[in-house]
This record gives sequence, C-alpha cells and structure tokens, in this order.
Amino acid sequence: MASLVIKNGRVIDPASGHDAIADVWLEDGVVRGVGNNLTSAGAEEFDAIGLIVAPGFIDMHVHLREPGFEHAETIESGARAAAAGGFTSICPMPNTSPVNDNATVTSYIIEKARRHAIVNVFPIGAITKGSAGDELAAIGSMVQAGAVAISDDGRPVMNARVMRRAMEFARSLNIPVIDHCEDLHLSAGGDMHEGLESVRLGLRGIPGCSEDVMVARDILLAEVTGAHYHVAHISARRSVEMVGFAKSRGLNVTAETTPHHFALADAHMLPYDSNYKMKPPLRSECDVGAVVTGVVNGSIDAIATDHAPHPGSEKMQEFEKCPFGIIGLETALGIALEQLVHPGKIGLRRLVEMFTTGPARILRLDRGTLAPGGPGDVTIFSTDREWTYDVNQSASKSRNSPFDGKTFRGGPVATVVGGSIVWRAA
Ligand SMILES: [Zn+2]
Repeated sequence: MASLVIKNGRVIDPASGHDAIADVWLEDGVVRGVGNNLTSAGAEEFDAIGLIVAPGFIDMHVHLREPGFEHAETIESGARAAAAGGFTSICPMPNTSPVNDNATVTSYIIEKARRHAIVNVFPIGAITKGSAGDELAAIGSMVQAGAVAISDDGRPVMNARVMRRAMEFARSLNIPVIDHCEDLHLSAGGDMHEGLESVRLGLRGIPGCSEDVMVARDILLAEVTGAHYHVAHISARRSVEMVGFAKSRGLNVTAETTPHHFALADAHMLPYDSNYKMKPPLRSECDVGAVVTGVVNGSIDAIATDHAPHPGSEKMQEFEKCPFGIIGLETALGIALEQLVHPGKIGLRRLVEMFTTGPARILRLDRGTLAPGGPGDVTIFSTDREWTYDVNQSASKSRNSPFDGKTFRGGPVATVVGGSIVWRAA
C-alpha cells in the first residue's frame, strides 16, 4: 500500500502533548511514526515546512441530507466539502428522509459513505421514531450497525420522560445523548434572537431562555440517569455557564459550539439576509462573549459546524419563510483561527484539541491522535496563508453561507484520510 511522509511540519498532537517540528510517516492506512528524518523507500513526500500538522479533524455535527434531500447535499458532496475544510471524519445528524431511526438507514448511510465519501462518516441515530419525540427509536440496533450517538437534532426532545428513558438506554450502551436544546413553546414562531435587534428589524424572537431551560432540564436528567449528555451547538450565556457548573459537579456533560456562534452576533446580521438565519440564532454580543469564555475555560469541548445545506430555491425566500441553517465545513478553521487564535484567546494546541481529541472523546472514537498504529488521518493547515472564500467554488451542493467573499488568514492546506491525500488547496 501507499506510503506518505509529511516532512518538517509543526506537529501538534494534543493527545500525546507533542508539539515540535517533525515528520509524520503514514503507511498501509495507519500512522507508522512521528519523528525526525523519517524516510521510507518509494514514499510520497509532502513538504509541510511552515505548516501545522495535526490529527485529522472531526466534525461531530453535520447534515448530509442523504437519503431524501439529495438536491441540497449528498454523502459524496458533503464529504468533499468536509475534506476541503480539513475534516477527515464527519458525523451526519439523522434528520434525513427517512429519518435515521433504525439500523437499515444507518447501514445505508455507512455503505454509501464507504463507496462514495472521501472522508470517514460516523452516523448519529435518532433518539425517537421519526424524531417525533414520542417513542424511542431502535437505538440498540442502530448502535450495532455503527451509529456513534443519538440525537433528534433539528428538533428537541420536548417530553422529559422520553428524554429520561433515552438517557437510561444510552448509558447502558455507552453512547452520548446529544440534544438540540430548544423549548418549542418559548421559541415558537421566532426567526432570530430575541433582543433589541429583533425589535429593530420587526422580526419575531427566539429567546436565549428557550435554550437555557432545556439545558437545565437535561443536566438534571443526566444527573438522575448517570448518562453522558452532550449539548449541540451551544449559543446562550446561561447554557454555557450551566454546562461549566455541571462539569464542576463531576457530571458527564459536554458541549459543542459552532464557528458562527463565536464569530457573529445578531447585530452583525445583514437585515433579512437568510444566510444569517439558523437555529440556534446568532445571539447577543454578551452570549458570543460567553461562548468564547466557554471555549477558553473548557466548558465547551468541541467545535462543530452544524453544516446545514439548503438549496438557493429554498433559502431565497422571505426571511420568515426560509429554512434555518448555513453551510460551514469549509470556513470553520479559518473562522476559528481568526476569532480565537489570532487574537490570542487560545493557543494552537487548544484549537487542535477542539477539532480532534474533544469530539473523539465525546463519541468514543479511536481517532483524533497521531499515535502510531492509529488511523492515518491528518489535517495540514496554515496559520498565515491568505485566502478568500468563494462559495460558488464550494464542494457543497448548497451556497448558503454568510462568509462568502471573506478573506481569511490561515486555513486548511491538505487533508489526509487513511494515509492518502484526499484534498489539497489550489
Ligand atoms: Zn440543531
């Protein structure tokens, strides 16, 4: 099999604490070694001088839209967008059609990915049948088929009794329960964050408390059941504080946030531009500050994109009518560098951790490190190379990004999956 030596990059592997200039040698799909002056007869060499060489990034929250909405994205196109964003593994949420609420759909996704995806795909199964919130899905058989977590993402589990049962079940299977935290009674009819901006624009608001009350409820249920509870796309100040509090009590509670929730506030929205409409909504500056603080102090464990493709025909409607969500795989690293690393809020090691060991630990994936013998997944990126995001060049089938035309300092340079380069920057 092919052999690849990535030469002279700054290798940052948070799992081992390694941070030094070194070579990374990959062969037969696995990491053979990290060290100096590594060579292998007939190996391809990649010159990584001036670049960061990290374990392959994992995005634990994406929407690939297949089966059912292939006009918006497919497993194949979503995987290409992931590779272009430096991600080597992605976890698609189950809100497809049909919903991934049984082993047949889980197996279908895994098989499609095996044949067509250039990155690893680890599906997340539904908590309830049809993600309708009433009856538990076939969780055990989905996990057997390869699902790595359960979530009704796109919707919350409104019924606390159902959530309690799901947590009990998930605990026995040693998987996390991921909740999209939104009290639907509090958020009903809302299109953006409730605050001065929503009043100014005359749009109906989604209050921060619609997230907070669900996070509070779920933390209490996690304590009762002993389950591992994970908050998807955390965005509100009190929610971040509660996750920190739960951790200080020793509960198995984790959280992810998205690049747009630490990069943008409601005041940054272009009025009535649907590329700024997502759930949870862009919140106040105060919430954005709390999310950044959570990233810095460890309350938040992972950065996930919530990549949510929608075709132009659906997004180009009136703000109130268009669906929620933006694409995000290709811009995540650039935004994280700009918002967190360049201003000195976190160091590169912490950044890499949030994209690798963070999600790997949450999902119990044997990945996110360059330990010898492990999967040969590597993300090579720059911290200073300037590039401009052109959404029309995106590998995604959709174009709904508020970051189109934006120039970044630093971003992905090459993506290596199973020992082979699957993408490199033009
Ligand atoms: Zn969600």
